[in-house]
This record gives sequence, structure tokens and C-alpha cells, in this order.
Amino acid sequence: MDEHARHDLAERLRALPSVDAVLKTGPAQAATERFGRPEATRAVREALAEVRAHAARLLVVPLPEDVAAAALAALDARAQPSLRPVFNLTGTVLHTNLGRAILAEEAIEAAVAAMRSAVALEFDLDTGKRGERDEHVRELLCELTGAEDATVVNNNAAAVLLVLNTLASGREAVVSRGELIEIGGAFRMPDIMARAGARLVEIGTTNRTHPKDYEGAIHAETGLVLKVHTSNYRIEGFTKEVPPRELAAIARARGVPLVNDLGSGTLADLARYGLAHEPTVREAVAEGADLVTFSGDKLLGGPQTGFIVGRADLIAAINKNPMKRALRVDKVRLAALEATLKLYRDPDRLAARLPTLRLLARSASELAARAQALLPDVAGILDDGFEVSVVTCASQIGSGALPLETLPSAGLAIHAPGSVLNALAGALRALDIPVIGRIRDGALILDLRCLEDEAGFLDSLSGIGDGAPP
Ligand SMILES: *Cc1c(COP(=O)(O)O)cnc(C)c1O
Repeated sequence: MDEHARHDLAERLRALPSVDAVLKTGPAQAATERFGRPEATRAVREALAEVRAHAARLLVVPLPEDVAAAALAALDARAQPSLRPVFNLTGTVLHTNLGRAILAEEAIEAAVAAMRSAVALEFDLDTGKRGERDEHVRELLCELTGAEDATVVNNNAAAVLLVLNTLASGREAVVSRGELIEIGGAFRMPDIMARAGARLVEIGTTNRTHPKDYEGAIHAETGLVLKVHTSNYRIEGFTKEVPPRELAAIARARGVPLVNDLGSGTLADLARYGLAHEPTVREAVAEGADLVTFSGDKLLGGPQTGFIVGRADLIAAINKNPMKRALRVDKVRLAALEATLKLYRDPDRLAARLPTLRLLARSASELAARAQALLPDVAGILDDGFEVSVVTCASQIGSGALPLETLPSAGLAIHAPGSVLNALAGALRALDIPVIGRIRDGALILDLRCLEDEAGFLDSLSGIGDGAPP
């Protein structure tokens, strides 16, 4: 830096407004009002430091208002919740990374009421004595599944862990090699077994397991036989598995409980809503499983929970396990769960009230009509460089339910060269309410199956370009 430039820079830095001068401006007053004095002061100091760091490149010295506005913008950005609502236009209805099931209004109201107030969570209002939190949903679960008894925990992974730990700790758990699943993340059946203290006994082969395999493996050390619904894959071709009824008979004859981990499970017959049949919990119970485990936020459409339903003596043993306490659910989720389960008492209106089912039941023609209606607005908002068209596409249920079944759907395809497309996907993620689509065959596909708030979507989309993509 020559003498002149050095002098020039020193001049600029001297001309920068002081912290006090910035704090007196309108935007800084607003920042103080909203975020408090210490936060506003800190943000102003940081904004000034930022200006100082780039002083050599400044064409003009910023006004106090400009610095304050930068500070306010930074505070606004920091105040944004980290867990933000998004538009799920991926076509996967139960997207684990996007939070799975959306709750019914009835469930939301119940959860909010429970958050605002003390509730009779473990308090028997008839006797005034201590009650059980499971009581709020126990009878409902029995009614909806035909099971003798039921208990609720944090999620289905917890349900499986608790069952294995209660019935097979220090003992053996028999599973077919064709059912040793990985769900994703760290949920691998052999690892869960190890953590539960159960010794895994693998039987059969990947593609074929016979009754004699189970019969030969069950002995005095066997704690349970586990059947796992291969929810996220399918083994096809030269295959054989032992039908649940036959397996139940084998286990019962030897006095060993049969546990069926259904994964998603469903309380309603999906065929009734135009979807492929997925095993219902009631069927699994009727087929003779001693315990059935399943999730609350998959096809059931409720809050994250895990269920164990079945034989009363086994449920009683599970409830005595100290681990149950560590895996229990809070009042908010219990309230949402009770309200969700009650919707199942009225199957005629279930699809209208339960978002998961409502979204799954939307027809391709309805969605194509919505795409056609949205096309001009979306094309109008996007730059001329993008070509937008209506496309047919395939939605998925997600969360491992019916992995090979897709639902005919429709959406908007945005065509552009590859790098531009990635930038567009980034810009959509940077919106006030981010829009999440998926890139396929050189186009960004926005599957409309899960889009109900179209006005909100267009509103958010119209902010494109306002915020810089990440
Ligand atoms: C999804 C799934 C689980 C885990 O359930 P979470 O509710 O995600 O904990 C366990 N077993 C099977 C077969 C599943 O599909």
C-alpha cells in the first residue's frame, strides 16, 4: 500500500460513524425495541467491524442508517427459527427428513390445550389417586387393534428396543436372515438386539426361511421369535417365508412369544382409500402375534410415538421395565395421539380429517388440474430462462411403507441447464418458506401431492431472488 492509499484508508476509517451514532438511528431503535439493548449494540459493533474490514474496497463511507440497517438484518436472520416450515413438494408424503406425518387439526388443538394447562396426565380424576399416562390411549388402542393391552413409547425403535430388552435380555432372539433390516440412520436390527442385551440367532437364508428353521432354533434359551415387516425393501423371485399364522402356531407350541415389528403398520384398510393393501395392526394381532410394534408418525398420521400392543401379561412385564420410564412420551404428544386415534372411530370422514390419508388419497387427475391452474403464476414468477410445464410423476408413501408402490401424481417441471437448475433449487430452499422439490432428468420437479396451501406457496415463491441462495 503506498503512502497515499494508506492515508486514504485512515481517512475513511475516521469517517465511519460511531456505535453511539448508529444506535440513535431509526433502524437501530427498532432493533433495540425488538431484540433488547445488548443484542442491538452487539449487532451494531459487528456491522461496523464488517465495514472496517472491507474499508479498502468501499466507494463511499456508509451512513449510520446503513450500518444500523445491516445490523437489523443480521438480527432478523438470527431470529429465524432453525426448525422451519417448508413446502414438501418432493412427492414423498411421509418424508422422514421433513418430519413425517402432518397432524390433524383435532390433534393440533389437543396438543396446544395440553401445552397451555395442567392436565390429568397421571392422575385419576375418579379416585383422586395417582394414575397411569398410558390410560389415556390404552383402551382406544385395544379397540382399534383388537389387542388385549397396549403401551406407548417415544417411537417404534424404542418399542422394539424395549420389547427385546424385556423379553430377551441375556437370552436369544430368533430372526429370519431375510428380515434383518436396516431402516436408515443407525437403526439396524442386529445392533438394536445387541443394545437390548439379546443374542441374535439368525435362521434361514436371505431369500428362504422354512418352518423347520424356526423349529430347530427354538429351545430353552429362546426369549422370543421376532418377525420384522421388511418395510423398505422387498425380496422377490425364489423366496419363502413362514406365514404369520403358522409361525404363531410354532412359537405358541413351544411357549415362546412371537413379536411382529410392523414398522409403519396402519389402523385403516388403505384399499378403502384407493391405495394398495398394507398389513393392518388388527390383522397382525388376529394372526396370532403375541406383541405387535408400530409407529405413530408413519401411516397412522399422528405424532412421533411407538406402540406395543398384545398380550396383557407381556405388556405388564414391559411396563415394569425401568427402561420404559426413559422412553415414555410427554403430555403434548399424548394429547395429540389421543385426538388422532379418535378420528379412526369414524372411517367415513377419516380421509378428510387426517392429512396423511387425505394427501395419499388425492388422485392424479385432481393434481394435474391443480398443476395446470398454478402453471401461469409459477411461470410468471420465475425468470424467462426457465421453461415450466405440467408433468405426470410418481409420489411415494415414504417411511418404508409399501416401498415398491408409487402413487400416480402430477406436478410442475422446471427445465433449465444443470448448473442453473441447482442454483434454482438453492434459491427455492432460501425462500421465507423454503420449497423442496427434487431434480430428475434435467428438470426440477415440484410434485403437488402435498401442496394444500397454494396461495402461501405462490406468496413464498414470489420472494425468489430476495434472499441470496446459501
Ligand atoms: C420405521 C421402522 C422402525 C422404526 O420406527 P420409528 O418410528 O422410526 O422409530 C422399526 N421397524 C420397522 C420395520 C420400520 O419400518
